[in-house]
Amino acid sequence: MSARVTIGVLALQGDTREHLAALDAAGAEAVTVRRRSDLDAVDALVIPGGESTTMSHLLREFELLDPLRARLAAGMPAYGSCAGMILLASEILDAGAEGRAAVPLGGIDMTVRRNAFGRQVDSFEGDIEFEGLDAPVHAVFIRAPWVERVGPGVQVLARAAGHIVAVRQGAVLATAFHPEITGDRRVHELFVDTVISAR
Ligand code: GLN
Repeated sequence: MSARVTIGVLALQGDTREHLAALDAAGAEAVTVRRRSDLDAVDALVIPGGESTTMSHLLREFELLDPLRARLAAGMPAYGSCAGMILLASEILDAGAEGRAAVPLGGIDMTVRRNAFGRQVDSFEGDIEFEGLDAPVHAVFIRAPWVERVGPGVQVLARAAGHIVAVRQGAVLATAFHPEITGDRRVHELFVDTVISAR
């Protein structure tokens, strides 16, 4: 048995490749997840940045929606960036047009507003404090969501402009920004450590 954990990256749409590279650099065996059998084979899953409405549609098309919800309910560690944060929520505000809306997978007890920052400014970046990391993280926000409510079991890890932008509940992490595109691997390392501890 390999000592390395196997972490899947949902590969239906979005910046899958960047997460695969970041996980690999953080010491995990990183593989793509496109079908049920891929999902069954991983210890944990990353849901990348991209477009949450498109990913929701494709999760249904690929018959991954229910299996993914079931694995999250059973305690599979997961990490979502931006669109991935939206999907990991238990409730989504401004989820999109009916029939094409982003669907909540319920990995974290939180309410996320889709495109929240995007209505003010499409994209911005800045250095933010991140709980558990000793130096700030350079955070890139692209049509990013923010978190409007967290349940009692949810730890807030970071805020930007007064809004919650990183959270964790048990072994499930989410960030409104994209550490996968900055070359700073600390958030992915934190997730890999979480997956190792959960094993
Ligand atoms: N606005 C996108 C969505 O609704 C998220 C953007 C991103 O992942 N950079 O899914």
